[in-house]
Amino acid sequence: MANLLRLAILVLLVWLGWRLVRRWLAAASPPVVSKKKGSQKVERMVRCRYCDLHLPEQEALHDGRDWYCNAAHRDADRENRTG
Ligand SMILES: [Zn+2]
Repeated sequence: MANLLRLAILVLLVWLGWRLVRRWLAAASPPVVSKKKGSQKVERMVRCRYCDLHLPEQEALHDGRDWYCNAAHRDADRENRTG
């Protein structure tokens, strides 16, 4: 009978321990913060080939593989390249 009592106490302790662990886990895990995934576009920065100015891709002028901060720099760089 003593063995059975010991087993019962052991089971009770394990059960209590499990409950405690679960409570800790619930407390430890922070509330899920909803991330606005996809709604916010990550703006890529590009560099003006002519003056090395960094600016958002949306505001930059695209010419082939190159980026420019404005049309004047694009044209000036073209002239430089063509000579
Ligand atoms: Zn520029």
